[in-house]
Amino acid sequence: MDRTEKNLVQEQEGGKPLEPLEPLEPLEERSRLFSSFEWTDYKAQLRNRIRSRDLDRYFTLTESERIGIRETIRLNVGASPYYLSLSDPSDPNCPIRRMIVPREEEAYFSPEEAADPLHEEGLSPVKGLTHMYPDRVLLFSNHECSVYCRHCMRGRKVSDASERMETEDLEECFGYIRSHSEISDVVISGGDPLNLSDAKIDWILENLERIPHVKICRLGTRNPVTLPMRITSELCGVIESHNSDRLSIFCNTQFNHEKECTQEAKEAVLKLVKAGVSVGNQCVILKGINDEGEIMLRLHKKLLELRVRSYYMYDPELIPGSRGFRTPLYKGIEILEYMRGKLGGMGIPQFVTDLPGGGGKVTLGPNWYLGYHRPTRNHVFRSAVRGTVHLSPEPPESGYENFYPILEDSVWDSVRESAYSSEKGVSPRKKGEA
Ligand code: SF4
Repeated sequence: MDRTEKNLVQEQEGGKPLEPLEPLEPLEERSRLFSSFEWTDYKAQLRNRIRSRDLDRYFTLTESERIGIRETIRLNVGASPYYLSLSDPSDPNCPIRRMIVPREEEAYFSPEEAADPLHEEGLSPVKGLTHMYPDRVLLFSNHECSVYCRHCMRGRKVSDASERMETEDLEECFGYIRSHSEISDVVISGGDPLNLSDAKIDWILENLERIPHVKICRLGTRNPVTLPMRITSELCGVIESHNSDRLSIFCNTQFNHEKECTQEAKEAVLKLVKAGVSVGNQCVILKGINDEGEIMLRLHKKLLELRVRSYYMYDPELIPGSRGFRTPLYKGIEILEYMRGKLGGMGIPQFVTDLPGGGGKVTLGPNWYLGYHRPTRNHVFRSAVRGTVHLSPEPPESGYENFYPILEDSVWDSVRESAYSSEKGVSPRKKGEA
């Protein structure tokens, strides 16, 4: 195996530049681009990725976008033609467009924002490895992606060639993992690890498989969303060959909107599933893109059709220029409250916020638990489905009664008559409820 092999993007960027052509309207420019190469060839998709300089050919830009493009310093622009094809050339509020094209807000940095809000660098014992949780590490495999998402929390590293991980850097990471027997779970992320060549991915997985205490490997990739043609049978063959008794391989991706749930994406996910890889989704709540219960509900229903399990729904990070994307923390709770009862539990993500300063993730959710009524030893709940109040008794002599938040008497008085219990039976269905 050639360990000095360049990654796919480097290989492709050495390609022949296109001849300059007469400018056309965005829709015509798109047709010209989309028909100029073999659509299902992922290398051709990468070779034809659009950059900052191309945006005004494929979009009718607003003034805010023009400023955003001009002032953007945090993260380069890049998008596969496939992902571009999901966006709207004339609607500046198109959710896909918002994830590709910088806007003016991105140029303003607030004092509370930081390039590395989770202190990943401070928790990095060797270049490219973050060791925050005792049994898990994050391995930064490469700095490139098929699309540079404007909201990327690792924008300080991705798209920056000086962050390139050389073979020696990766070998040093493997050495660290080898010498720490408490590490059982390695998350490979970037950049996008599936932007590396099959041979390099094979080499990385082979190295991890050889470390006896590493049992789990998670590939963090947006390629099923942004470049589904990258999920080839050959790549799946490589992954499957290491998805063994020794090592369990998972894949976590990031669908943020139902517009991304295409037939191509479905086929990519199915290929991974057939290779024995469980595919999970980690969406990010993004202002003006998916920060409404109904939008998130439709996304998560689609994900189940795609055989993608919901995993996390992230509160956006405090990265520089994030004011265009950040939502109030309560949005996540509101979204979960809306979704609960309208979709089976396996379609509902955990709402998490990653604590600034390297505190790790914590989960948040609507409060269905109203409190404990000590005199009657009842727990009092609000139904997520019907909004009714329900009682559930604590087992006799449980020994845990002091652990529960006490329900105030005034609340008890207001709910005791209407509350349902195992004796009182099932609450009536609301009109129109299935
Ligand atoms: S694919 Fe992932 S790592 Fe790459 S820019 Fe998007 S969010 Fe960041």
